Amino acid sequence: MVNKKATELKEQKLGDIDVKLFKKHGYELIDWIAEYLSNIEKYPVLSQVKPGDIKNNLPKSPPEKGESMEKIMEDFNKYIVPGLTHWNHPGYFAYFSCTSSYPGILAELLTAGINQQGMLWRTSPALTEVEEVTLAWLRELIGLKDDFFGIIYDTASISTLHAIATAREALNLKIKEEGMINKKELMPLKLYTSEQTHSSIEKAAITLGIGQKNVRKVAVDDAFQMDPKALINCIEEDIKSDCIPFCVVATAGTTSTTSIDPIPEIAEICKKYKLWLHLDAAYLGIAAIVPEMKHITVGWNEVDSFVVNPHKGLFTPMDLSAFYCKKPELLKKAFSLVPEYLKTDTGDEAKNLYDYGIQLGRRFRALKLWFIMRTFGKEGLINRIRETINLAKTFAKWVEESEKFYILAPVTTSLVCFRYLPKDLKEKIERNENVEAIEEYLNKLNEEIMNAVNATGKVFISHTKLHGRFTLRLAIANLRTTERHIKDAWETLNQLALKIDKELRSTFI
Ligand SMILES: *Cc1c(COP(=O)(O)O)cnc(C)c1O
Repeated sequence: MVNKKATELKEQKLGDIDVKLFKKHGYELIDWIAEYLSNIEKYPVLSQVKPGDIKNNLPKSPPEKGESMEKIMEDFNKYIVPGLTHWNHPGYFAYFSCTSSYPGILAELLTAGINQQGMLWRTSPALTEVEEVTLAWLRELIGLKDDFFGIIYDTASISTLHAIATAREALNLKIKEEGMINKKELMPLKLYTSEQTHSSIEKAAITLGIGQKNVRKVAVDDAFQMDPKALINCIEEDIKSDCIPFCVVATAGTTSTTSIDPIPEIAEICKKYKLWLHLDAAYLGIAAIVPEMKHITVGWNEVDSFVVNPHKGLFTPMDLSAFYCKKPELLKKAFSLVPEYLKTDTGDEAKNLYDYGIQLGRRFRALKLWFIMRTFGKEGLINRIRETINLAKTFAKWVEESEKFYILAPVTTSLVCFRYLPKDLKEKIERNENVEAIEEYLNKLNEEIMNAVNATGKVFISHTKLHGRFTLRLAIANLRTTERHIKDAWETLNQLALKIDKELRSTFI
């Protein structure tokens, strides 16, 4: 039996724990993190626990008496770690990448230590001004002009919510004051985005009372890019039926395939019809830091607002989304309400960031990005991001040369969309034999291959559906991924695909 007393904190004075204990455990925690990240490949990348496994092991009520850090860490290792899906693992290729880096981790620790709350300039001048400086640096790195005002929110979903709220404010319909239902004539506001758009656009429309029905999903072409003609048709149709088109959300780097909408054409259309253009570059925006990727940025400076996520692909620990807006006065108009107790006399030079959004409290998120940019430098960032793009190119080449796996969407940056298609079945499809049944089988087969690959614990990939086909996605943007890791993933995929095809074939066709 463990001596229960030994796990309790010895001293139970008021105030914080003893500074000596803090230092001791602080050094130990840094060691823990260093060990963890150095040996991360010993963990299964995708957590293997079942729903409820973790909470069922934890007490239902908080402890009566304070517990020691040793005891807390013991439980952390025993119960929490098995429930972690390791986003920092070099075999993490699912969805999109969110890796952290040592400078980002150190800055997060410091952020908790200094515990800033930047609602007003004077509640943290440093937070307010470092946020401005850091976002100006990022803006320059990705090639946006300095007429974009920048602000940090937690996620792209929230950035886009603010974009659409600002677009609505630009209509000058007094919706802020009177709400959506106080109008004489109820004319629905219409928002346009592509069929491949991220779910956050629709969620923002739900939250703002625009309504799902008024989010029009414009058709895409074969490369999954919004079709500008289809966009015009939708707008014209809505104008004829007395609706109010007000906003287009284009995507530079869809989550499914990293396709890029034709932004210059869409910007022209928005100018003609006087619509707000928001660009969702949450996923792919970071790639623009690499000089030879500048072609993806055409039209970016013509949009009204823009979101990019440093927590996706810029080695920034969750979370940090950068929002840029050309009309900060409208963003402010959409959200600013100044209660008496928050009025300050610091003048125009001092921005109170709580005026520019929903939240009052604001943590010092910029610090980690500032640390990362300073530690790696522009050159270091470029080289690291370039490496992820090169790895994706290498992987795509293996797929192309394999005659077993096939690419299903253009590889624009560091995401490869592909599927397994055995030679005999490919030939049958080409001869137009039994195509429907084969396609159904291929969907099942690729899903099973994905599940089997993920069950190895060495690799974690995810999927999407393209033209009805179950598509495997391998997304690379991880700081720790090297050629060895994509090679492992490739070999695992090849071995398991053969094996599963053999097992499944008789039961399906
Ligand atoms: C990931 C993603 C989002 C949402 O990002 P969050 O920061 O998690 O809200 C939005 N748009 C695109 C294109 C994305 O890939």
